[in-house]
Amino acid sequence: MNRKSANLAIISNNTFEATKAVNLHNYDISSALQTTLEFNELIAIFSTKIANKIPHSAFIYTNTEFDLEVKSGVFTRHSCNYALKVEQQQLGELKLMRNHRFSDSDLRLLETLLCCLIYPLKNATLFHQALKKAYTDPLTQTHNRTSFDDSIKREMSLAIRNTQSLSLIFLDIDHFKAINDTYGHECGDTTLVLSAKWIKESLRDSDIVFRYGGEEFVMLLSGTDASGAELLAERIRASIENHTIAYGMEILKITASLGVSTLRENDTLKSFVQRADKAMYIAKNKGRNQVVVAK
Ligand code: GH3
Ligand code: MG
Ligand code: MG
Repeated sequence: MNRKSANLAIISNNTFEATKAVNLHNYDISSALQTTLEFNELIAIFSTKIANKIPHSAFIYTNTEFDLEVKSGVFTRHSCNYALKVEQQQLGELKLMRNHRFSDSDLRLLETLLCCLIYPLKNATLFHQALKKAYTDPLTQTHNRTSFDDSIKREMSLAIRNTQSLSLIFLDIDHFKAINDTYGHECGDTTLVLSAKWIKESLRDSDIVFRYGGEEFVMLLSGTDASGAELLAERIRASIENHTIAYGMEILKITASLGVSTLRENDTLKSFVQRADKAMYIAKNKGRNQVVVAK
């Protein structure tokens, strides 16, 4: 074996694993910005790393595409504001503040430093766009089943840890097959899009709606007990019943059946979900267009 291959063999035995507690002080700005794909972390790292070159008392970063506002520090009188953009891609807006004005040379230096932030922000944007797509139902723009499977596990652990209520509503559109059969699949799709819209309009910001299957939606309600969930389910039921769908020359009306379950101490994921599903089927059997709360 020659010397070169012996060295290579030794190198292949080495591992290098950076821990989460990596000390960013030892990193230059570009390397530090490569350690994350989260917008809030990127902006905080950028602010820290430029602090000695461009002293500032606060920053605000807004990104409308992801409905995001990240802010930190003490807001003061003078500010500079940059709309960040690369290759037609909007990357949000960054504002820095301090109590004396930013000079032209400060702004020139800041613009040079912003070049280090642009591509990490672009990577974060691409990552979050892909994540959003993977978790979104393309027809109704609600969260999809994959998202539900992840979210319910997370919400159940949170509810148990914080001893908070958690409720589920299962909703199935009544006689939906007849809409497809009578007016066509496209009309069925329009009905699904509108139903999702009416459901979303009835919910609070903290509630999440998922398309569970064909014409079935699930709502996950954190911090909501059985009576709150029943009230909400009834509001959704009434909203669907009271709306009309204009399709070509036709005016259609639909109804839905809903089942409600609230997390119990000994629940598993399966028992919690099955109770809401069962309650929904009881609502169907009792004549549809109604809410049933699981016993
Ligand atoms: P029930 O009142 O008992 O719920 O009756 P239903 O007709 O609503 O239920 P059923 O399960 O018999 O029919 C559901 C239909 O939903 C059948 C399927 O073709 C249709 N469907 C599923 N996904 C979609 C979709 O994305 N678009 C359209 N247009 N139809 C869909
Ligand atoms: Mg169904
Ligand atoms: Mg149905």
